[in-house]
Amino acid sequence: TEASFTRITEVDGDVQAFLTTTRDEALARAEQLDKEPIEGRGPLFGLPIGLKDNIVTKGIKTTCASKMLEDFVPIYDATVVEKINEAGMVTVGKLNMDEFAMGSTTEHSAFQTTHNPWNLDYVPGGSSGGSAAAVAAGEVLFSLGSDTGGSVRQPAAFCGVVGMKPTAGRISRSGLVAFASSLDQIGPITKTVEDNALLLGAIAGIDHRDSSSSPQAVPDYRAALTGDIKGMKIAVPKEYLGEGVSAEVKKSVTDALKVLESLGASWEEVSLPHLKYSSPTYYVISSSEASSNLSRFDGIRYGYRAENVQNLNELYLRSRQEGFGDEVKKRILYGTYALSADHHKDLYVKAMKVRALIAQDFANVFEKYDVIVGPTTATAPYKIGQVIEDSLTLYANDMLTVPVNLAGVPAISVPCGFSEGLPLGLQMIGKHFDEATLYRIAHAYE
Ligand code: GLN
Repeated sequence: TEASFTRITEVDGDVQAFLTTTRDEALARAEQLDKEPIEGRGPLFGLPIGLKDNIVTKGIKTTCASKMLEDFVPIYDATVVEKINEAGMVTVGKLNMDEFAMGSTTEHSAFQTTHNPWNLDYVPGGSSGGSAAAVAAGEVLFSLGSDTGGSVRQPAAFCGVVGMKPTAGRISRSGLVAFASSLDQIGPITKTVEDNALLLGAIAGIDHRDSSSSPQAVPDYRAALTGDIKGMKIAVPKEYLGEGVSAEVKKSVTDALKVLESLGASWEEVSLPHLKYSSPTYYVISSSEASSNLSRFDGIRYGYRAENVQNLNELYLRSRQEGFGDEVKKRILYGTYALSADHHKDLYVKAMKVRALIAQDFANVFEKYDVIVGPTTATAPYKIGQVIEDSLTLYANDMLTVPVNLAGVPAISVPCGFSEGLPLGLQMIGKHFDEATLYRIAHAYE
């Protein structure tokens, strides 16, 4: 824990991954843990961890990188926080993100821009940019992010670390501030696949506080790391190496496939025909759910409240006007429009139908194959400021990650080379609740 704070002091002025650090509490807890008997300690005991700032922490500010929650101090811990505490981990602070997890660069934080530790002129990805950058910069070895449409995998790829988006329902969402409930999952970010497997094992499982959490037993993920992937059948969707994917990204994937072949796996090209509709489908569904979820921030129950208002309507209006940033307002407007009486049949209902087709595309491939492999992102990281005004490009670049959330399947991103000194990520997508196979192949590859 001390080493973690030393490193934070050294580099976080540049990287700016942390919104809050909890030095005194963390050192006191570490000292307390030192007194516990060695016999009862698990593999994560005493290890420092950072948490994305949309995971509620009792007594520690949880801002979602929004002015709306700038001074919000939760009165309970998220289930994942209880679980990391039970494992003996030490929370060292809360990590920067795009406001309410909406974005792909961490530039939509109301407070600061996180920089990519490999090159400070570049973004770390998003929305869990702080979580990925903190691990890449060695400030912590473990962090938690959340992934609604790629927000764990894409920053993991841009920062050269390992990020897992588990199956929908694998981890309790109780205490994760909701963006789009049918798509949100908490996910571990680490330097190695083994660390990732350990952390998922510690936080997964059913929880009576989240009725969508699954009763499926949590396997020993570390036991899956045998190094043996002989006979594994890999599918490579041609759409993952198609239009919009840069040449260096394609090359990194073909190189990775050669490594996987040399380890005894085989691969074939397949098609996910509805993939081209995944970004528009995702933005309709996620914005619709967000417009509903974010209605709770009304200036009364939580967070920011406008001053000098004349009546209740003005209180709602001005609190939301002043408390939310532009990207969040944009999503609320899209979502409200997509759910409106005049348009919901053409937008929301249609998107739900396309979502079912995308899920079926994955199911068809998984009848014959064990795992799908492709890039995590279409391009290498962007320069800070390069794409912030260009929402359409950013939304389109989510095309390789969002289908996974729409289908509810798990996916991991592992480092697979560099483009001009900046990391690229390889994405491996698995069957529902088959995170173990993903860890096995990712570990053999890494
Ligand atoms: N980039 C996507 C978005 O802006 C994904 C965000 C996420 O996964 N939280 O919505």
